Amino acid sequence: MVRAETVGKSFGDVEVLRGVDLVVEPGQVCCVIGPSGSGKSTLLRCINHLETIDTGRLWVDGELMGLREENGRLYRLRDSALGRQRREVGMVFQRFNLFPHRTAAENVMEAPVVVRRESRAAARERAVELLTRVGLGDRADAYPAQLSGGQQQRVAIARALAMRPKLMLFDEPTSALDPELVGEVLDVMRELAREGMTMIVVTHEIGFAREVGDALVFMDDGRIVESGDPRAVLSDPQEERTRAFLSKVL
Ligand code: ATP
Ligand code: MG
Repeated sequence: MVRAETVGKSFGDVEVLRGVDLVVEPGQVCCVIGPSGSGKSTLLRCINHLETIDTGRLWVDGELMGLREENGRLYRLRDSALGRQRREVGMVFQRFNLFPHRTAAENVMEAPVVVRRESRAAARERAVELLTRVGLGDRADAYPAQLSGGQQQRVAIARALAMRPKLMLFDEPTSALDPELVGEVLDVMRELAREGMTMIVVTHEIGFAREVGDALVFMDDGRIVESGDPRAVLSDPQEERTRAFLSKVL
């Protein structure tokens, strides 16, 4: 579902990704851990083409992201084509970024109505369905301010799912939550994984990675230092840097 080959990305003089190779198979949950500044968010943003990569190639579901290859040369995609690619990828951030003046259902309906031109009635019906799926069927008409952080994050997940993505990217989805609200969001993600959604999850929730992850990737300094079966990486890291990091977070 995702293939990254020697992906490099710099911001000015700062090399943030230094040749990242990653493969995530359909239906897999790939968890990404690593110290602050190691490039985890940048990698997610590159996969979604919110950032343009400098070197390497990135495919989502067999499609080269942001680029088109013709006679061995690469061309940037037009915005419309890029928008279409991006819609296939759902993203959930640490901060929920819901529209404050719209209800939960209206937040979920927004993209289907505006981007996909679905009728409001059909979009509303599906929004309520999705909200039910994340345990918020009875809060469809609540405004974000009337919801807890965990509930808002579940609305954000429903909103991402509304575009029927092939792939979901989560960037520390529980880091901004009070500890007692983390579980309800992880439960929704666990359920999504069980239903077969392909997911890349940047997280500090080691328990989630161990239990739900099919693969665990440890990043440091713009590189993937180590990856493999989560249980193996966590219990018997092969690299000194992984070991040092885990000793701090476990
Ligand atoms: P954290 O755990 O703190 O979220 P991270 O692993 O997600 O860290 P990134 O956000 O990917 O790290 O950032 C990696 C490096 O790239 C950092 O040094 C950061 O300052 C830099 N960086 C990220 N985005 C930009 C940008 N738009 N412009 C300049 N530098 C950036
Ligand atoms: Mg980050």
